[in-house]
Amino acid sequence: MPETQIYDLDKFMDGLKRRNPNETEFHQAVYEVAANVFPYIDDKPIYHEMEIMRRIAEPDRIVVFRVCWEDDNGRIRVNRGYRVQNNNSIGPYKGGIRFHPSVTLSVLKFLAFEQTFKNSLTGLPMGGGKGGSDFNPKGKSDNEVMRFCQSFMTELHRHVGDDIDVPAGDIGVGAREIGFMFGQYKRLTNRFSGVLTGKGMEFGGSPIRTEATGYGAVYFMENMLKHRGDSLDGKSCLISGSGNVATYAVEKITQLGGKAVTMSDSSGFIHDPAGIDSDKLAYIVDLKTNRRGRIEQYASEFGVDFYEGQRPWGVPGDVAFPCATQNEISTEDATTLIKNGCQGVSEGANMPTEQDGIHAFLGAKLLFAPSKAANAGGVAVSGLEMSQNSARITWKEEELQQLLRDIMSDIHNSCVEYGSDSDGYVDYVKGANISGFIKVADAMLAYGVV
Ligand code: NDP
Repeated sequence: MPETQIYDLDKFMDGLKRRNPNETEFHQAVYEVAANVFPYIDDKPIYHEMEIMRRIAEPDRIVVFRVCWEDDNGRIRVNRGYRVQNNNSIGPYKGGIRFHPSVTLSVLKFLAFEQTFKNSLTGLPMGGGKGGSDFNPKGKSDNEVMRFCQSFMTELHRHVGDDIDVPAGDIGVGAREIGFMFGQYKRLTNRFSGVLTGKGMEFGGSPIRTEATGYGAVYFMENMLKHRGDSLDGKSCLISGSGNVATYAVEKITQLGGKAVTMSDSSGFIHDPAGIDSDKLAYIVDLKTNRRGRIEQYASEFGVDFYEGQRPWGVPGDVAFPCATQNEISTEDATTLIKNGCQGVSEGANMPTEQDGIHAFLGAKLLFAPSKAANAGGVAVSGLEMSQNSARITWKEEELQQLLRDIMSDIHNSCVEYGSDSDGYVDYVKGANISGFIKVADAMLAYGVV
């Protein structure tokens, strides 16, 4: 065996940290996967010999570029844009674009790495990528956002394409931003192609793309409960966030007979013991999308409590859906949820639970669905949007609803296949990591050293 082979997880992580200094989010994401994959490939030396994990953890390509634009006062503003193309072994790079001041290369590398496994889990032909900018759309006028998006796409268009890399939305990038970026891509290339997903229905968008992530996270929970002979019916549900994912998670919970009792934003959370029904949810959608208001206003409108600066995990509930942002369930929060009798957690957001929190959930044998499995419904419907664009047709909503349900159920079954312990407990983290790894790894083996 050549001396460079690495069989030891600690040595592997030491090397990764040395090559990627100070990128803590990226280290965390790689460790979480490698800790499951290394034992799995222990007796499959070909994966080690071909350095598969090391290659997946080294992005194929990273593009970093300047984005300058003019604000409404005529001042020149400068931001930094990124696209991390992590791995295209099983299909074109695919993953969202995030506009938020917290965006760094480390965050995008972690997200692009995660996306590689998530996309593989969907069973659709999509590689992994992620991009974004430290631009903050909050407080900017529509014209400022448009000028920023146009400038961002002026560089990005050289690196994306319907068979190359197909970005989508993420935090800070919704229908408005996708529209501006698609318009600029079309202008620059004179091509009308499915280069972005999450598009408006008028120009190639797919039915239920908006709803898919939130719905998918709830379907995943439904599948986990069913596997234990239980259901969502009558369960009290804790939800964080009040954006796209949280909204549709609440809608699906209600449709399946559960009761959503909390929602939040970055200023705090509301607790509505009577449940957030469809009328109250419509108020939140209008508040957040049309009036750009704060969740606190829900409390005064419906006479419930608002907890400033707090997260909802101290409220007793049967199951939880973190749908806001990363690292929003600390180890302490996880312990509180367990103590209060919470039976399951389905991660709508990306990596919302801190690593020790995940260990606490697994130790207490909770039903714990990691984000790469639980929130894969969004990218799955994006993949179906790509198929519709290629065929230049739009499928019926009912057809897509069924496909989403089937894909979430298939992901659940793959997790059970690779994550079941000898006592019958399903470690969904292990199941998702191994199942997502195998397809990408086997494609890489087929390609040889590339
Ligand atoms: P939105 O921007 O629509 O909503 C985000 C929500 O989270 C808002 O309510 C926001 O509150 C809240 N939030 C943001 N930062 C914090 C914070 N630091 N503390 C507390 N609350 C916070 O985003 P999405 O719903 O689209 O995405 C949410 C998560 O889901 C992200 O992790 C994203 O990567 C992930 N995801 C999204 C997909 C999608 O299809 N949209 C697909 C897969 C994953 P405020 O209004 O105050 O900012």
